[in-house]
Amino acid sequence: AVTPSESEQVVRKYVEELSGAPADEDCIICMEKLASPSGYNDACECKTIKPEMVGRLTQCRHTFHMLCVLAMYANGNKDGSLQCPSCKTIYGEKTGTQPKGRMEVSTLSQSLPGHADCGTIQIVYHINRGTQGPEHPNPGMPYTARGFPRYCYLPDNKKGRKVLDLLRVAWQRRLIFTVGTSSTTGESNTVVWNEIHHKTEMDTNLSGHGYPDPNYLDNVLAELAAQGVTEDCLGQ
Ligand code: NAD
Ligand code: ZN
Ligand code: ZN
Repeated sequence: AVTPSESEQVVRKYVEELSGAPADEDCIICMEKLASPSGYNDACECKTIKPEMVGRLTQCRHTFHMLCVLAMYANGNKDGSLQCPSCKTIYGEKTGTQPKGRMEVSTLSQSLPGHADCGTIQIVYHINRGTQGPEHPNPGMPYTARGFPRYCYLPDNKKGRKVLDLLRVAWQRRLIFTVGTSSTTGESNTVVWNEIHHKTEMDTNLSGHGYPDPNYLDNVLAELAAQGVTEDCLGQ
């Protein structure tokens, strides 16, 4: 018997094989018809998943060539999780490529503009320059870390503390920063924010990343949820 690779096992866990391809639908990964073989049929040294196989993600029920899902997974950071390319549903626990560092939390008695009724949570992220790992864009090359430590602020109320708890989960899962190109400075191979917005100004708003912003906590909760970090992750 052939033993499926780890990647094949992840695909099998979240994608159920269909006996027939849905008539006339396209696979949005390779853009071929599902009734034709996967466009990735020669990119894979795959043992148990054949180019003709079509599968359906178990929760959102979107359909793809199984080999295309495998190619997508193999192209990512292979953390055991899958994300539907169609609707972004996350299967398993998504992790990122944030370099090693430290997240520090403290409280301040001063209030944030728009949150006069409470104090402030201060988060300090420390990340140093280093060498890129296999999960980064240029393995073996150095990356820079500009503007660290980075200081961030949340209101110290119920919702702010919930966001803090979720940011701790996101930090553990390496989702807060990534290594890439800064859209602000244009520098490549550097540590940048990764799709979870932070407020880096406390009593000014020079960058637009300050207070007041009445929608901020709801927006960041939605950004965390898009990375698979929700209230369900707390208290485990
Ligand atoms: P980036 O510019 O690639 O942007 C990524 C995301 O971070 C975007 O969503 C953007 O809206 C957000 N972002 C941009 N500026 C921000 C800020 N000041 N505070 C909070 N979020 C911000 O990401 P990046 O290069 O990691 O972030 C740029 C910001 O990081 C700079 O504005 C600065 O605050 C800090 N930084 C400082 C230095 C320094 O030498 N002091 C150098 C580079 C970056
Ligand atoms: Zn396909
Ligand atoms: Zn989907």
